[in-house]
Amino acid sequence: MIYRIAVPSPLRRLFDYLPPADIDKPIPVGSRVLVPFGRRQVIGVVAATASTSEFPLSKLKKLQEVLDETPLLPKALLNSLMWAADYYQHPFGEVFAAALPTKLRSLQLEKKPQLQWNLADPHTLETSLGALNRAKRQQQLLQFVADNQPALTRALKHEGFSNSLINQLADKGLICSQIASTEALVEFKPTTTTLAAKPLPLNDQQAAIVQAIEKKLDTYACYLIHGVTGSGKTEIYMQLMDQCLRSGKQCLILIPEIGLTPQTIARFTARFSVPIAVLNSGLNDSERLEGWNQARLGIAAIIIGTRSAVFTPMKNPGLIIIDEEHDSSFKQQDSFRYSARDFALVRGKAENIPVILGSATPSLESLANCRAGKSELLKLDKRAGNAKPAAITLVDTADSYMNHGFADTTLDAITMHLSKGAQVLVFLNRRGFAPVVSCQSCGWIAECINCTSYFTLHSNPRGLLCHHCNATRPIPRVCENCQSRDLASVGIGTQQIEEFLEKQLVGFPVIRIDRDSTRRKNSLDAKLKLVEQGEPCVLVGTQMLAKGHHFPNVSLVAILDADGGLFSADFRGIEHMGQTIIQVAGRSGRATRRGEVIIQSRHVSHESLQLLTTKTYSDFADSLMTQRREAGLPPFAHLGLIRIDAPAINHAVEFANRVNKHAKSLVSSNGYESDLIGPLPAPMEKRAGRYRLHLLIKSPHRVHLQSLLTQLCQVLEDANKPSSVKWSIDVDPHDLI
Ligand code: ADP
Ligand code: ZN
Ligand code: ZN
Repeated sequence: MIYRIAVPSPLRRLFDYLPPADIDKPIPVGSRVLVPFGRRQVIGVVAATASTSEFPLSKLKKLQEVLDETPLLPKALLNSLMWAADYYQHPFGEVFAAALPTKLRSLQLEKKPQLQWNLADPHTLETSLGALNRAKRQQQLLQFVADNQPALTRALKHEGFSNSLINQLADKGLICSQIASTEALVEFKPTTTTLAAKPLPLNDQQAAIVQAIEKKLDTYACYLIHGVTGSGKTEIYMQLMDQCLRSGKQCLILIPEIGLTPQTIARFTARFSVPIAVLNSGLNDSERLEGWNQARLGIAAIIIGTRSAVFTPMKNPGLIIIDEEHDSSFKQQDSFRYSARDFALVRGKAENIPVILGSATPSLESLANCRAGKSELLKLDKRAGNAKPAAITLVDTADSYMNHGFADTTLDAITMHLSKGAQVLVFLNRRGFAPVVSCQSCGWIAECINCTSYFTLHSNPRGLLCHHCNATRPIPRVCENCQSRDLASVGIGTQQIEEFLEKQLVGFPVIRIDRDSTRRKNSLDAKLKLVEQGEPCVLVGTQMLAKGHHFPNVSLVAILDADGGLFSADFRGIEHMGQTIIQVAGRSGRATRRGEVIIQSRHVSHESLQLLTTKTYSDFADSLMTQRREAGLPPFAHLGLIRIDAPAINHAVEFANRVNKHAKSLVSSNGYESDLIGPLPAPMEKRAGRYRLHLLIKSPHRVHLQSLLTQLCQVLEDANKPSSVKWSIDVDPHDLI
């Protein structure tokens, strides 16, 4: 028997090992093992077994130790991870690392076993209890063990029994310990009381969707719920989850990074009285391990998390839900560049459970999957309850005088809504005070020396900041080109809006929510609490405000600049702009107040803006779909992006040219149908001191792209190059910046 191990190494392959001498029973795949690797000892995961190796048996080393009694990664998850390593052209070791909490990958494992306690002899319980009449605490402990056996030491401590008390009973031979197998930990048992609060009566559209999905909860299928904001998607999720929980199964819900707010979690905890594990980036290693184990052992019935939670093992998986499936935070943008949404579909198939995607603004990829019959499209076009759709007004700012980013009509509307006692949300996706500082005499602009990018002016703390490499510098006093003192900030950021509105709207609080203002722990919570109180106020914010939040008293949303995405270098720019606009607009009028949305633009007649504001998101998406088809872009073609960067531009260029030559010859020798675009400088040519080049591969056939990338990976891995040159492969890249 040969074990094929995923080892932490940048190489894209598994490593073969022989079984350890002292172990006779086979080691199940998905278990962790300790293996010699080079001169080190590392933790690997058994990914597969084989009867032969491409290496002579005499060359293979032996595994040193098996670390898990039962495999940590269930078969379906393991197979999905193998798929991901292959599809994303990423080293197995790093893919498996993404699925294991740090603590389980570290050699300084806490090797303190958990003990569990049982009665030494259940038949003598009554007599023993009688004999302990004069030692009340010992008697209580014995009774507790009798009622709860096997009882974990942790549980005894939790009940207030001390170590010495436990030892006293053990010394008397009344209780005995064993090492707790992970299975001994309590399991989630289905109950009929999963509901802590009553479900809402569904409207017809909601009911139709629940009926369509509930019939087939025991098999794989992918559903895309396209429901306008406030249409009650979450209510649908919860009713389906309830059915899942009742049959003893677990639900995994993925939420965008910035959507996973205490508000979201509160909605689920208010509805379900079952153990819920929350897995987000705010956890420390122990907390993460705890939540992960609860999911794996079936203790947590609901698992809510961001992107990487898609790898959480579950004992009894029943349903995967991805809320706001279009959100770009589901795509990891560095090292292991996977899409949690796409992985979820593969995993759902492997586990044979349904996957539900939900969004008010579905991605073109997911809509295309519906057209192709791979998923089922289910629509909600009305808001739930009594909320009415918001009225949208486009304000042409091409020729009008702008007061700190506001047209007069926008300012008037803000004042009007506040005076009626409502709240207002002002959206601008640009943090800082102003995007650039420029010389009024010669046009010089303060630029980051590490990046092809301008410095952003910040007012608090005062100075220039590069949003790409975090470099800072004081604001220059004179122009560095012509020494003029006539420097000025150009453009508007959220800090400036906040300052301006505070002066403009005396008596109404202005609450800014962006990455800078919420850096301190709990500051976001505090700000949201303030909004929740419902008093009239203005919220000023970036992307952070666009999702997940529920502001019942907001009746006006003002989008200050809709134009950013219209002429973006990225082919998804317009799609993202449209999604952001609809999402932000959806924050308005979610309860009883009729909502209003104002969108400022200098290109009000642009087709995409017109479709968004006068028609529906579906019309907007249809028109983009046609453009993508004509341009041969995703979802009608498949992309792989090879990124190459180095501190010295000539090193990067030289390597990129070599890679391109290899790629060309592979394409022609294998007859792949694919276009090679580049190598070209990345849109941001220099970032954090490194020059960046892109080689884009485009193919109408997924298999052609995959085989080409696999072969190219081999070439890249084996290539001789300066160590300062780095490369990476991005399959289905999200942004080409
Ligand atoms: P979405 O997730 O689609 O944005 P939500 O599930 O947050 O929508 O629902 C928006 C609001 O409508 C919430 O306050 C929710 O409680 C309410 N709601 C949802 N379904 C119903 C229903 N069937 N009847 C009454 N109110 C509902
Ligand atoms: Zn100048
Ligand atoms: Zn920079």
